[in-house]
Amino acid sequence: MKEDVNCAELLHRCHLKSTKPRNAVLTVLAERKTVLTAEEIYRILLEVGGTANLSTIYRVLELFTEKGLVTKSFFPDLRSYGFSLKSGGHTHRIICMSCHKHVDISHCPLSEFEQHVAADTGFEIIGHNLELYGYCSDCSKKTDR
Ligand SMILES: [Zn+2]
Ligand SMILES: [Zn+2]
Repeated sequence: MKEDVNCAELLHRCHLKSTKPRNAVLTVLAERKTVLTAEEIYRILLEVGGTANLSTIYRVLELFTEKGLVTKSFFPDLRSYGFSLKSGGHTHRIICMSCHKHVDISHCPLSEFEQHVAADTGFEIIGHNLELYGYCSDCSKKTDR
């Protein structure tokens, strides 16, 4: 597997030391445009001939999530979590439940809503999360819905 220079940079930005498992997981996430589960990342790493350990991958993914490097998304159909590299800036995403491809939506519809909630609850709101689920055009063509 080719070592991506950006990986070291991304890790450095999050004050994380660059280690082999961290680089490997980050490279997989950077190369795929889909949301991947820990098991899928594990399989990909084995396919490219690397050594991989599932519990290490879980630990790395939780660390990345904690540091804001990746986004953890819940898949209702799989009843498990998928992970993907967080894009810079404030974006929302729509995720295909079939192929797990995701598309960033740059428009945020929630700022006005936030102000209402803040006024109603007295909370100082510092952020939010919004993900949309569906089936991409390729996948809905394949299955006759
Ligand atoms: Zn799809
Ligand atoms: Zn937003």
